Amino acid sequence: MKIVDIREKTGSLKSEMRNAFIDFSQMTVSLVAVVTDVVRDGRPVIGYGFCSNGRYAQAGILRERLIPRIRAADPKSLLDESGDNLDPFKVFAQMMRNEKPGGHGDRAVAAAALDMAVWDAVAKIADKPLWRLLSERFNGGKADDKVLVYPGGGYYYGGREIEGLKAEMQGYRDAGYRIVKMKIGGADLATDLRRMEAAIEVVGDGGLLAVDANGKFDRATAFAYGDAIAPLGLWWYEEACDPLDYALQAELCQRYPGPMATGENLFSRQDMDNLLRFGGLRRDKDWIMPDPALAYGCTEGIRIMQSAEALGWPRRRIVLHGGTQLALAMSAGLQMGGTETYPLVFQPYGGFADGVPVIDGYTTLPDAPGLGIELKQGLYAEMRALAG
Ligand SMILES: [Mg+2]
Repeated sequence: MKIVDIREKTGSLKSEMRNAFIDFSQMTVSLVAVVTDVVRDGRPVIGYGFCSNGRYAQAGILRERLIPRIRAADPKSLLDESGDNLDPFKVFAQMMRNEKPGGHGDRAVAAAALDMAVWDAVAKIADKPLWRLLSERFNGGKADDKVLVYPGGGYYYGGREIEGLKAEMQGYRDAGYRIVKMKIGGADLATDLRRMEAAIEVVGDGGLLAVDANGKFDRATAFAYGDAIAPLGLWWYEEACDPLDYALQAELCQRYPGPMATGENLFSRQDMDNLLRFGGLRRDKDWIMPDPALAYGCTEGIRIMQSAEALGWPRRRIVLHGGTQLALAMSAGLQMGGTETYPLVFQPYGGFADGVPVIDGYTTLPDAPGLGIELKQGLYAEMRALAG
């Protein structure tokens, strides 16, 4: 078998939301289709992928570097031992040829979209859902039949902060979510405290509310928020400080008694290792949240998980960022801690198969081959248009 075409385009993720750091009015995403010469039910098998929200489309890197390297490779050099399917690790090595180590930024995002499409194709050719393929290859065949999901949300509602936030949180509860999350750091501490208390009124317990500062706080502000929110007993305090400031993260873990979470803006196994070595995170309490659809894809996500395990971190402490079908498949098939999702924004890319309910904070898995993009009509329409 071989890859006969790789296509990419830029889609719009435009959204009205903002967090403590950026607004999403200009947000874009890269979509990738990997067309193979394998035929199933009279149609070529095509793998689909896209990058996660927050880092923009990466057309130049895909078009000028990653895709041409795969095209230039001997097709046989990309196959697994059977010769009937791609080896995603070999494809990954090929697209990363002549790339220096370090500097993991937009390149990781471009690679993530392409790598996701490769894994989708591999699972479709194997005629298995991706979560099952991952469980067989990397988890002794064990998989979860339901996955913890929580909505990334809790936005700012200029002029009607409290009513707007409460209505949003009630909507999540009505939709079946148990744990919810809200933005902080986009207002002053007093306003944010009133917002947190309002959200807790809706969900009933601080232990069901996470808060996310999106890396905005300096040392003094991170401490002030931490001291003020500690009595609320929150589910977690996320990205209080700059994602690369491991020393400050370690100080925060010393000072803040509750669980903390970070890692969505670390795009490589090496960066995540450094966080775990130097960030002071506590294995019995804190959470790490890599985003495979931003950080070099499923291939690097597996390496991050294996490396974290070698440093003593249980897989259940990994809750994937991004809310993609890839994150869902990885969490289930590798028995991680769950994944975020975005019911109100980032459509049609975010979220899972159409019509699959969330019950008491958990969702179930697709039974279609691959990622299950064909079960999400809006996304599948975009991908079909790309593949032609
Ligand atoms: Mg976050």
